[in-house]
Amino acid sequence: MEGLIMDYPLTTNTILEYGNNVYHHKKIITHLPDGTRHEYRFGDMYKRCKKLANALTRKLGITKGDMVGTFAWNHGPHVELYYGVSGMGAVCHTINIRLSSHQIEYIINNSEDKVIFVDATLVPLLEKIAPLLETVEYYILINAAEDFTTTLPNTLHYEDLLADQSEDFEWPTLNENDACGLCYTSGTTGFPKGVLYSHRSTFLHATTIISPNAGNFSNRDTVLLIVPQFHVMAWGFPYLCLLSGSNMVLPSSNLQPEAIIKILKEEKVNKANGVPTIWLGVYDAMKMNPPKEKLALEEYIVGGSALPKSLIEGFEKDFGIRGVHAWGMTETSPLGTVSRIQSKHERLSENEKLDIRAKQGTAFPGVELRIVTDDGTLAPTDGKTMGELQVKGAWTVSSYFKTNNHESFTEDGWFKTGDVSTIDEDGYMEIKDRAKDLIKSGGEWISSVALESALMAHPKIKEAAVIAISDEKWVEKPLASIVLVHNEDKILDEELIEFLSRDFVKYQIPKDYVYIKEVPKTSVGKFDKKEIRRLFSEGKLN
Ligand code: AMP
Repeated sequence: MEGLIMDYPLTTNTILEYGNNVYHHKKIITHLPDGTRHEYRFGDMYKRCKKLANALTRKLGITKGDMVGTFAWNHGPHVELYYGVSGMGAVCHTINIRLSSHQIEYIINNSEDKVIFVDATLVPLLEKIAPLLETVEYYILINAAEDFTTTLPNTLHYEDLLADQSEDFEWPTLNENDACGLCYTSGTTGFPKGVLYSHRSTFLHATTIISPNAGNFSNRDTVLLIVPQFHVMAWGFPYLCLLSGSNMVLPSSNLQPEAIIKILKEEKVNKANGVPTIWLGVYDAMKMNPPKEKLALEEYIVGGSALPKSLIEGFEKDFGIRGVHAWGMTETSPLGTVSRIQSKHERLSENEKLDIRAKQGTAFPGVELRIVTDDGTLAPTDGKTMGELQVKGAWTVSSYFKTNNHESFTEDGWFKTGDVSTIDEDGYMEIKDRAKDLIKSGGEWISSVALESALMAHPKIKEAAVIAISDEKWVEKPLASIVLVHNEDKILDEELIEFLSRDFVKYQIPKDYVYIKEVPKTSVGKFDKKEIRRLFSEGKLN
């Protein structure tokens, strides 16, 4: 028997309408790259979303299901795009500006973006590949001066696009399972894969993160969204701020520690998100130059890479600011777990509590986790037995966009994360290693396999194996171990950096090289990365 409850679609429109009805007075503040500050209200943003929906429909010929790309930092117009595009039934495809031109070209052609909204400061990155983009009909320039010049074809200024549009727009009736957003993973060895979020998954993810056991957001908060809007919808924060009535502060490209501290001070921010590298930088800068007055910042939520216990401890001891550790993936919308102390932990020592908080944490309601060992059995929840972390839930990917990537899913419907973890008896998950052969540096992925193939194309190199090593600032960085064709050959590190810069962007290129006689191999002849890591940690890799 079915329940007798209305079938009320959970869509991003309902989030926008709610934010406008209840919290129209709440603020959206942007700090632009030129140092200027822009402030408006949820209510103003709401009206501009409707103008945008009209412009998309009437001026740009966008219809339901079309892909609309964004190539932009965090700011008010980017939030308008999240709501305006999905509100009229199209899909907001946020393109990661940090990928290589080759990957960006692939992503835009694969998703078939019809229009791209691009920040003026990022235009040069698109100009290089524009002739190769097969489906893009218009480029809409955001924050561009009137006399801005570009070689991009068919450009319009964002403000001109909205200028003569009506603020009346009736949202179409959408199915909650319709797609609303698209984000590509960048962590793969092959081409990036698209994850297509639905209205329902987006709504449920955002409402869940608000709760006190999770992100703990309310209408008393002012939240700084440091996670870029081109990274998994800024972890759903533009949605949860409207639902919780939190003021939203957007830093655009002002991501240097000093710039972040300035914004935290000026806007009296009390909650924020970001990858560990950002918070390591902010902590170091605050240590060097302690703020005269205590910041309003109470909590920063960290994910993307492991939050070091020492950072949680340092921030809290020195500045009274709490670090909250979370884990997630592009494939999980992204948030899957969060680590918070429970009432039953109160009797533990401070150090024991820190140990719990440094774990990746417990699953959110709506997410299930399990660990599968190498022999295919389910690991006990003993906090010791390691295996691959698998996940399922209301905002976990069910298949990749346009790709039959069966190997990422189990027959009984779980998503294989590629993270090697444990789960303890209280459900706290801890990441121990990574099965996928990748390095995550400053929150961005580097494919070790791609680096190895590129290095092995060098005439003087016979074999190259790349591993992740830890780094204070970037959490991880690549180290390349090289076997030369002729032992007596010499290659300068600078020569290799120059060689790799043809195919890789700067942050992806290893700065550390060691020269070895042979790469250790597994029984089937594959590079034995575990062994290379062991040799490195024991100082024997040379
Ligand atoms: P992405 O899809 O780029 O968001 O990357 C997801 C991956 O980042 C996960 O599968 C993990 O390998 C890694 N990751 C995310 N959060 C954490 C965390 N808190 N600790 C360690 N690794 C993390």
